[in-house]
Amino acid sequence: MSFLDVQNLTMRFGGLTAVNDISFSVSKGEILSVIGPNGAGKSTLFKLISSFLKPTSGQVLLDGIVISGKQPHQVARTGVVRTFQETTVFKEMTALQNVVVAHQLGLKATPFGAYFSTSAARIDAKASAESAAEILDYLGLGSMKSELARNLPQGHLRALGIAIALAAKPRVLLLDEPFAGMNSEETDRAVQMVEGIRKRGITILLVEHDMRAVMRISDRIVVVSFGSKIAEGLPAEIRANPAVIEAYLGQ
Ligand code: ADP
Ligand code: MG
Repeated sequence: MSFLDVQNLTMRFGGLTAVNDISFSVSKGEILSVIGPNGAGKSTLFKLISSFLKPTSGQVLLDGIVISGKQPHQVARTGVVRTFQETTVFKEMTALQNVVVAHQLGLKATPFGAYFSTSAARIDAKASAESAAEILDYLGLGSMKSELARNLPQGHLRALGIAIALAAKPRVLLLDEPFAGMNSEETDRAVQMVEGIRKRGITILLVEHDMRAVMRISDRIVVVSFGSKIAEGLPAEIRANPAVIEAYLGQ
């Protein structure tokens, strides 16, 4: 049975159809990549799946339950969490503080959060700090946890964006161009990091232009061009697909 179902999603901005009747399914624990030229509609598709945008038509189901049309924080609570293409970190806070805040916001989003008294909130703050430190260690950012975010190099800043998303304890993680601006060494590390996240049972949707990384990391690939899905398959199938080469890979 599929875990995440994208059914006939369409998004129109005025006269522009950014996403045109796209459907696909994702299994639990899978890494599925969405590729395609700039402006193809990839980021819009992710905003629809994470409910930051309400589709013109179509729906998204998680475990058979419709999640599209809900508020983004409600969808995040069901476990669908995305990182932003424009990394949103608080530059004047340390790496650790950024993840602690994300963790605490995640707790507040639960009904349980409303019942915390002040003393319980203190215990909660300690647990948040421990949990945040663990996530940073896990992503190889442990030694940087006291650095101000604004001092982190690009690759580490991206990793911090992923740490912030992980603090919300996702079941489905949407990563929009996580390797952008990374050199090949940073990308290799980040690919291992994403594989490690999947090993923890988290399902991953990825938008990425680095084809070497995409071909290596993906179980399956969906290709979009001008808002429409033009192909779906295993990396080897996608690499050999004439329509994909024509629309994207041959560029
Ligand atoms: P990609 O991520 O594949 O580069 P996007 O999803 O960002 O593509 O954009 C798809 C198309 O939708 C582009 O033509 C873009 O200009 C347009 N678009 C995206 N967001 C908006 C918006 N909020 N309002 C109007 N047009 C938008
Ligand atoms: Mg984009």
